[in-house]
Amino acid sequence: MFQGLQGSLKPGTCPACAGDNQTIQFDWRVLLQGQPKLVLAQKFQFGSLLQCALCRQFWYLDAGEEKITFVPKDRVPLLKTWGTTSLSLSVELFQKAKTIGATPVHSLARKTEYAEVPCRVKTRDGRWTDKCLLIFTDAPPLEPDFGDARLLEEVVDIEPSAYALPAKVRLATCHSKTDEKGNARTWVRTDKDKLLSLNWTVNFVDYKKTKGSELILVSEKDPAFKKKMGKMALLQEPSLTLFMGHWSKEISKLGIS
Ligand SMILES: [Zn+2]
Repeated sequence: MFQGLQGSLKPGTCPACAGDNQTIQFDWRVLLQGQPKLVLAQKFQFGSLLQCALCRQFWYLDAGEEKITFVPKDRVPLLKTWGTTSLSLSVELFQKAKTIGATPVHSLARKTEYAEVPCRVKTRDGRWTDKCLLIFTDAPPLEPDFGDARLLEEVVDIEPSAYALPAKVRLATCHSKTDEKGNARTWVRTDKDKLLSLNWTVNFVDYKKTKGSELILVSEKDPAFKKKMGKMALLQEPSLTLFMGHWSKEISKLGIS
């Protein structure tokens, strides 16, 4: 997904001109060596929108000017709103988010300026959705993981979600260690001692009749569970509705620790 394309571009073209519609991100400095004709279409709060003078394809250049990301035509309006609107929490919602507590990035991730708040969300249309993540970052929702993400400006109220894991469990999943298969497990149990295994950072569980908020953290050293742990299948996180907000220093105060 992340390629250099060094030397393979004709001067004055962009990767889309070259017919590459499989790769969505390119190393900007390497690409510059091919002298692409990408002109500034709009400057954003974080990064900017570029457009190819030849094929009119839009690209997003990140604030650090390290990579450009392909912008699908139907995501251009959303990206423009993301780049020009203040996507922060009101004083009231900030307090509610702080009570829930933001999950930080995994301790093995490179990026640190990132936080996500798992909650129920009421949107402008008056509807409540149970399994939502408010995501605070300086990157727009262009990568496949954020395919159908919406913007924080749609959110009018939030509440704790019964499906969200307790803050202590979420924090433990952020510090999980990798095994030889590349999994990074955290074990939790129900009040009936049914054991479940989480992989990397997890915010929500909706599994059979078990809701995330009911789960209890299990120590790897606990002899009552130790035997079963290796055999546990990894639990899939349910599908979530994402709302993108902007990263700020203030957001770092939402974090659980
Ligand atoms: Zn082009």
